[in-house]
Amino acid sequence: MYFKDIIGQEETKRRLIQSAQQGIVPHAQLFCEPEGAGAFPLALAYARYLNCAHPSETDACGKCPSCLKYDALMHPDLYFVFPIVANKEKKKEICDDYLSEWRNFLNDRPYFNLNTWLNYLGAENKQAIIYAKESDEIIRKLSLKAYEANYRVLMVWLPEKMNETCANKLLKMIEEPPAHTLFLLISNNPDLIIGTIQSRSQRINIRAIAIDAIIRTLMSKFGLSPDDAKNVGHIANGNFIKAMEVISLSEENKLYLELFKGMMRNSWSKNVKGMKETAELFVSLGRERQKDFLSFVQRMIRENFIYHFQEPDLNYMNHDEASFSTKFSPFVNERNVYDLMAELEKADVQITQNVNPKMIFFDLSLKITVLLKR
Ligand SMILES: [Zn+2]
Repeated sequence: MYFKDIIGQEETKRRLIQSAQQGIVPHAQLFCEPEGAGAFPLALAYARYLNCAHPSETDACGKCPSCLKYDALMHPDLYFVFPIVANKEKKKEICDDYLSEWRNFLNDRPYFNLNTWLNYLGAENKQAIIYAKESDEIIRKLSLKAYEANYRVLMVWLPEKMNETCANKLLKMIEEPPAHTLFLLISNNPDLIIGTIQSRSQRINIRAIAIDAIIRTLMSKFGLSPDDAKNVGHIANGNFIKAMEVISLSEENKLYLELFKGMMRNSWSKNVKGMKETAELFVSLGRERQKDFLSFVQRMIRENFIYHFQEPDLNYMNHDEASFSTKFSPFVNERNVYDLMAELEKADVQITQNVNPKMIFFDLSLKITVLLKR
């Protein structure tokens, strides 16, 4: 992570760079952000910059030995502390036991929150904390001699998740810091951190990302059209994790639209083989997404019915959906719309009742065949 990879936050970047250039580097700094603003990547870019052998006016060099080790997140003087779900059986009880997962996780996605981390570990809905045991590790590491860096860095992501014993020991370390050691704490909820750590750290408040910066990134790095980027940018409202979620939702939408088109074409042309194949696809979605897809189809049926009336204010379809409707909407009319909706409703109930999804889908396709001909 370099400063150039940070989305927006120009003012904070300038301040951090200035602090490094002037050598005014408080030994404990608390980065506070509303989720998705990029505090963690900022702190990491800052740590890299401080240790770079040939920094430019705006960023680390990317070539010196320190930068190369930061690239791999394997600098011997860079430590990470983060919430985990301890697993005694698997002997995973401290952050270092999760270090390879953590590095892969950071490599894949510089912007993340606790949910994305827990999903990555397959530990959704579990309590993740920084355990008391971690403090012994921190003390052990910081009692070692620094290897080579200008600044040895301990990054603590979400100190608010720290067990109290651990927090108190960290506080001691902050009060009597070993030489050349920098504590960078990154918090979404600083009020939950013990007051003494808060008061002994230099606080850096990071604001939500400027919407324009998010829009530019969505266009340049993710290939979104200006209109789509604007929509997603406004929904995300300064939270880049949210922007990523919206993009992946619209990917899901594309899949549903393709499935819907296939389903309607098969039904209209009485293509039984096609119906069976589409039923297989439907099964592969899994239960929750099968239900999502059925709601999507209900929405499409409603939108296609309304499409006749040529009242754009009442229609809520994106470009791709609307272009299918120019051909499909004549087949949804007052003679079949209620029965179509009723059949979709019934299929949804059956999914909830654990009826075989392949049978539900196939049966539904046959009924739609009859209804579309009315
Ligand atoms: Zn460098």
